[in-house]
Amino acid sequence: MSIKAAVMPGPDAAIELWKLDDPTIEPGGVLLETVASEVCGTDVHLHHGRLSGVPYPIIPGHVSVGRVLEARGVSTDSLGLPLGPGELVTFYDVHEACYACYFCLVARQPNRCPHRRVYGITYSAHEGPLGGWAERIYLKPGVKILKLPESLGVDDVIGGGCGLFTGFAAVERSDLALGDVVLVQGTGPVGLSAIAFAVLRGAGVVVAIGHPADRLELARALGADVVLSLSADPPEKREAEVRELTGGRGADVVIEAAGAPAAVPEGLRLVRDGGTYVIAGHYTDTGSATINPHVDINRKHAEVRGCWGTEFHHVQRALQLLAKHRDRFPFARIIGGRYPLEQAGAALADVEALAVTKAVITPNQR
Ligand SMILES: [Zn+2]
Ligand SMILES: [Zn+2]
Repeated sequence: MSIKAAVMPGPDAAIELWKLDDPTIEPGGVLLETVASEVCGTDVHLHHGRLSGVPYPIIPGHVSVGRVLEARGVSTDSLGLPLGPGELVTFYDVHEACYACYFCLVARQPNRCPHRRVYGITYSAHEGPLGGWAERIYLKPGVKILKLPESLGVDDVIGGGCGLFTGFAAVERSDLALGDVVLVQGTGPVGLSAIAFAVLRGAGVVVAIGHPADRLELARALGADVVLSLSADPPEKREAEVRELTGGRGADVVIEAAGAPAAVPEGLRLVRDGGTYVIAGHYTDTGSATINPHVDINRKHAEVRGCWGTEFHHVQRALQLLAKHRDRFPFARIIGGRYPLEQAGAALADVEALAVTKAVITPNQR
């Protein structure tokens, strides 16, 4: 039986439907039937060739939920919970960090391990169904699998998708303190997740800047106290509002989840002196921005931190928190459309046009 997959053949080329051979399941390997995968902003950027080193053609879809079809010698998930056929799981999209290099062992930054591979991004479609836009996904030996917590449905997880884990990682990286005023730039899935986790971590006030209106409404639903519109409120007005909320100082923590270079000078302007700025929205290269190092960083004594991808614990802990607070944080509402593989190109276009916040790919729903 072959596997149908939606393939991104190269930058700016139309999505194609391919038939792949069923993979040979190695000892320690697991085959999933894909229940839902996602289109994230990164996929839009990959479609335009904005990340170096991507081995096109690829099967996109880095975060997915699936059902175990077949496992060879795997009877538990990564944390020891029993795992059998038919069970719903997700998995950590990063694979093969080596735990043997300088970055893994000395710097303790496995995110920058040169051996790191990522499902849906760094595997060629010729290597097999190693992305979520396919009827089945092959989890190679060593991929970290997590059983979905009982209280979570597929939509709760895939509604935030990879943004759930990146948003968690960005909040963790900010070292947000109880009562801090937090500004989140961007109201896509990463920004929306950062809002929810900032609330859980004890932010005093959460301000969000984003657009369009339906995303600002989601930002409120996920816990933003104040929302400012990127399109309707001019930058001077946004700055005035943030200053008014903070006694003129600016936000204690700013998290960039916008993915637009222009967000960075604005974020640096809006972080208070000695505050922390986490840049999480530029996983791909969307260009440069101009800052004044003296005014924006040095004199400000600002702490600027990049946030590249996630680690396993971000995925595990984000899921645990979501399982506990599911009723407060309606991530399933972020889903704006469901697309079969044949419409993966349309899903990409809708995400790029901001017509939907989270587009979900459902390869096995007819
Ligand atoms: Zn390494
Ligand atoms: Zn993503």
